[in-house]
Amino acid sequence: MADSEMRAQAAGGTVDAGGTVDAVIAGTGAGGAPLLARLARAGLKVVALEAGKRWDPANDFATDERAQAKLFWNDERLSAGADPTPFGNNNSGIGVGGSTLHYTAYTPRAQPDDLCLHTQFGAGCDWPLAYEDLEPYYDELEAFLGVSGPSPYPWGPPRRTSYPLAPLPLNGAAQLMQRACAKMGLRTSPAANAALSAPYHQPGVGWRRACTNRGFCQAGCSTGAKASMDVTFIPLALAHGAEVRAECFVTQIELDKQGRVSGVVYTRDGHEERQRCRTLFLCAGAVETPRLLLLNGLANSSGQVGRNFMAHTGVQVWGRFEEDVRPYKGIPGALISEDTHRPQKAGPAWGDADFAGGYLLQSIGVMPVTYASQTARGRGLWGEALKAHMRGYNHTAGINILGDCLPSPDNFLELSDEKDARGLPKPRVHFTAGENEKKMTAHADALMRAIWAEAGGQDLWSFPRSAHTIGTCRMGRDARTAVVDPDGRSFDVPNLYISDNSTFPSALSANPALTIMALSLRTSDRFLERAQRGED
Ligand SMILES: Cc1cc2nc3c(=O)[nH]c(=O)nc-3n(C[C@H](O)[C@H](O)[C@H](O)COP(=O)(O)OP(=O)(O)OC[C@H]3O[C@@H](n4cnc5c(N)ncnc54)[C@H](O)[C@@H]3O)c2cc1C
Ligand code: SF4
Repeated sequence: MADSEMRAQAAGGTVDAGGTVDAVIAGTGAGGAPLLARLARAGLKVVALEAGKRWDPANDFATDERAQAKLFWNDERLSAGADPTPFGNNNSGIGVGGSTLHYTAYTPRAQPDDLCLHTQFGAGCDWPLAYEDLEPYYDELEAFLGVSGPSPYPWGPPRRTSYPLAPLPLNGAAQLMQRACAKMGLRTSPAANAALSAPYHQPGVGWRRACTNRGFCQAGCSTGAKASMDVTFIPLALAHGAEVRAECFVTQIELDKQGRVSGVVYTRDGHEERQRCRTLFLCAGAVETPRLLLLNGLANSSGQVGRNFMAHTGVQVWGRFEEDVRPYKGIPGALISEDTHRPQKAGPAWGDADFAGGYLLQSIGVMPVTYASQTARGRGLWGEALKAHMRGYNHTAGINILGDCLPSPDNFLELSDEKDARGLPKPRVHFTAGENEKKMTAHADALMRAIWAEAGGQDLWSFPRSAHTIGTCRMGRDARTAVVDPDGRSFDVPNLYISDNSTFPSALSANPALTIMALSLRTSDRFLERAQRGED
């Protein structure tokens, strides 16, 4: 550190951290890490600033849910609306790798009609992109991450590539669901999971070990078999010369006189530092990205920053079975059915699907503390009653859905009057499930109960829930109604890009991470092409 910088720090001022870099990437999750690696590979000087720590999974990750709560974003977020979004262990992640540190690694692709819900149903919002824009990136990602899945995959358009690895073994819940669905005429398939069914050599990273069926994916994978960003794109980015600064929380975005981003200010060890940059990529997720923009009064001429917050419709149905299920074992999301992708076409056999869009069915494994806490909330069991219920844990199996959610102006994020420990306004997220989500939940609930009844399940119970944080900085073609263009570039600030879950115009009936990564690679390619053409 230069003398002037040391004096600035001693005086409590903002220290300049080195010179101007080509790009700063704020956040290292599914949206930030692929882009970081891509830009570094192109020879750019890139710095990632990440609020959380850098972990060493083999040494730092315990098979202990409580200890692993360190992977959750635990700064308070306020929830409002009729169906307040839970945060903490459900919808968050912090650390180098972001939410992928504790995601379940289900990686289905979106289907082409997911991207044109409005055209199909007159509801929701079309994407400004087509499936063909994402397809090459899906192909590339599945090969790079080492996704385990079936070939052929029964749903969606014909694929140009097979999954690189065979599916992972079916756990107890998946086997029960498979048998029951077969009797009911519902097609199922082993799911696509970004976890290795065999050792895998990943270009630029090296050999990764196969999944040991430990079942603790949501508490962090200690073997590195799960393709979280910290064991895939982050090492690739580092190998290409990127710098990752952990425990650096971005608070300010600075502009020059032309209204372009000139740098960011972040806190590290209680001090403020500044990193100057030519381009800023905000990849802080669908809560912190709009929060940062609102805090800085930026990129919001459309008034859409924070708007259209969405959460996947995700009701679960649980049952008790005679068979030994052992729900803590094996990859949690082992079996899938996309026969309910457009249940309107199935006719009355599966009930009246009088809603727009559709959903996936997924078998679920669950860790014991997670199951106990949601049973306490969902069934109101406590004390002896909860203990008695938990004695049957090893005979418990669940199914859930991952369903679309329509954007609504009534669901939004705002800055509250309450301040966090840094003195910044806490975000408040308003969410109320609409009629479409309610109808979808009722349809799925009836179908999942029928599946579990067919499998011999007793004591069935439903846990209505939503999952994931989506929207709040939507992409589009019109600067009046969207925050970023289809390349992720802000309409208002030309050298500001967004790459994370916030840019989704609609929620999709597929788990989001693979599509976030695909958009991340696409945004970096579009950015590099512009730079090559010498465009601003
Ligand atoms: C328990 C769980 C299970 C899930 N399972 C699946 C699944 O099976 N399949 C699937 O597709 N998706 C799943 N998801 C969702 C998926 O993980 C997320 O949708 C995805 O990771 C979001 O990517 P992102 O880049 O938008 O945000 P994140 O991955 O959350 O990354 C944002 C990063 O930005 C950092 N950050 C935030 N603010 C700042 C700041 N001011 N300064 C610096 N850094 C900052 C955060 O610490 C974080 O690392 C799951 C999520 C959870 C929580
Ligand atoms: S089940 Fe496999 S991917 Fe999940 S935590 Fe265990 S080893 Fe990792």
